[in-house]
Amino acid sequence: MILAGRINANIMQAIGQIAETEWNSGLAEVIAYRDAVLVAQRRLCAYCKRRVYRNEVGFRELDHILPKAQNPRKKLNGVRASSNDKKYRRHTTGYPQFMYNPENLVIACKRCNGFKGSYDALADRSQYPVNYPALSNQFEWIHPYHDEWSLHIKLVATFLYAAVDASPKGTAVIHACGLDKAEELTKRLFEDYVDESEELVDGMMALIHSREPFDTREAAERFARVYGKDPEAIRTCLIDLQAAKAGGSEVLARALDTVSIELGEAGRAILPVAVAAAQGDGAVV
Ligand SMILES: [Zn+2]
Repeated sequence: MILAGRINANIMQAIGQIAETEWNSGLAEVIAYRDAVLVAQRRLCAYCKRRVYRNEVGFRELDHILPKAQNPRKKLNGVRASSNDKKYRRHTTGYPQFMYNPENLVIACKRCNGFKGSYDALADRSQYPVNYPALSNQFEWIHPYHDEWSLHIKLVATFLYAAVDASPKGTAVIHACGLDKAEELTKRLFEDYVDESEELVDGMMALIHSREPFDTREAAERFARVYGKDPEAIRTCLIDLQAAKAGGSEVLARALDTVSIELGEAGRAILPVAVAAAQGDGAVV
C-alpha cells in the first residue's frame, strides 16, 4: 500500500506550513498528521509491518525518512557523507530542510527507528538536494509514499524477512532496520508471545542470559505484576526461552510449524543464526 494520496490534503498542507520554531509534538496539526499517517499505514510500522502500539515511542514520534541531522555520535566525514557506498551511509550531513516535509515523515516502530538512526537513503548522495526528491528511484529505500512494500520485502514463516527477487530497496531496509539480525528477530518473535511489550521481552532476555538460576513461576509472577500481563503466558515464554538457550529450538520450531509457507533461501540461511541468538551468543547475520 502506497501512502501518496491516502492522507487528507488539508492535513498535509497544514503540517507543511508549521514554522521550525513552532514545531512540537503536542501541536494540533502534528497530532492530526500523526493520526492520519497511522491510519493510512493501518497501524503498522512502515518498515517491518509489525503493529505499532500507542505506548511505543514509534507511535509518538515520526521517523524522518531522510535523516534530519548528522549522527551526533559520529564525527562527520565529508567524503564519506557524499559517498553512495552502503558502508558509509550512516555518515550524513542530514537534511534539516526536509525536517517538516510531510512526505519525509512516516511512523516506524521503536526497534526499526532505533536501528535506522541516521541511515541516509538518498540514492545519489553526490548531489545535495534543494527540493525534496519526488521520485521512487531517487531513494535506495522503500519510500512509503512511492513504493509498495510487498513488491520489495516478503515475510517468511511470519517472522523472517527476505528481499523479493533480491530487491535493492528491500535489501537496504532489511539491513538498516536490523531485520536480518538474529537477536532482533528473536526478540520480535517473543514479543508476539507476550503481547508486544518490548521492555518485558528485554527483561526476560536479560534474565535468560544472566548466569543466575531462577524459578520460572516466581520470575513470571514478578514480571506479570510489573507489566500487568498474564503470568502463565510469561511463564510459557520463559520456559521456551530456556529451552532455546539449552540447545533446543522449540520456540522457533513451533513458530515455523504454525505456518505452511516454505522457507525461502533467506529464511533457511537465517534460521540457524536465530536459534544461536536465542541460545545466548548474540550472533548476528
Ligand atoms: Zn518496525
